[in-house]
Amino acid sequence: MRIFQRTLAKEVRFSGVGLHSGAVVRAKILPAAPDTGIVFHRTDLGADIPAGVGNVVETSYATVLASGAARLSTVEHFLSALCGMQVDNALVEVDGPEMPILDGSSLEIARALAGAGYLEQASRRRFVDVDVPRKLHRDGSMVALSASADLDILVTIDFPAAAIGKQWLRFTLTPEKYLSEIAPARTFVLRHQIEALRTAGLARGGSLENAIVVEDGIVHNPGGLRFPDEFVRHKMLDFLGDIALVGRPVRGFFLAVRPGHTINRDLVELLSGSSRPIAPAVSMASSGTPAELFVTA
Ligand SMILES: [Zn+2]
Repeated sequence: MRIFQRTLAKEVRFSGVGLHSGAVVRAKILPAAPDTGIVFHRTDLGADIPAGVGNVVETSYATVLASGAARLSTVEHFLSALCGMQVDNALVEVDGPEMPILDGSSLEIARALAGAGYLEQASRRRFVDVDVPRKLHRDGSMVALSASADLDILVTIDFPAAAIGKQWLRFTLTPEKYLSEIAPARTFVLRHQIEALRTAGLARGGSLENAIVVEDGIVHNPGGLRFPDEFVRHKMLDFLGDIALVGRPVRGFFLAVRPGHTINRDLVELLSGSSRPIAPAVSMASSGTPAELFVTA
């Protein structure tokens, strides 16, 4: 893990539709001073929205942040790219209520960050370290965490759709591996969910250009998948985006079984020290989870 904070060497720009609003927005990521963290800024409202768990107001279909009356939706892929590329401080400007979905992955963002280059800053990174093993449960999802010198994550997913099925992936964060193995993985939707999303006024900007559409054993996108396990890679991408809401770099081993934005928020509250106390797990082996999953190399 890098010791000193860093920001971008120069600004980078993006434009595209919002997945849910369908509106075209323009975004920029700009360098920021040490200990700024990640701060979003709605240029149309003149409002700052710091990326912290205290500003999360919605997690059911996307991560939505708010500060006062200013809301910003679908921040998770930008946060994932900043966390994955280990950018500690940045100002993210956008001229509308939702970040652009781009191609449904964080590849364009991560590439732009790598292309801009970085500015090493004089302040040390202030790590949040997992100390004792703990476990969280919510609605059939589970996250177990234990100490590690790295950010080391094992994600498992289990979907009835045959094209997805059971997948797992273990990933130890480095910017190089994030760019090549995680950033290209696109978001996905089950075809039967699309009508319900549209009826709810969501996914208006959704298309085969920015999401994988799955129906039972079929992937509807003409180009197919980017990886055979692209789905679990995207869940890893989302997990990193949510963990960025701690606001400081995290070190620990995380086993995430069927993770989603809601249990990830519980985890971030725990790591941020802002939740009710959760009892440490007495024995991982007695939990129904194989104990060897907790042995970190
Ligand atoms: Zn996502």
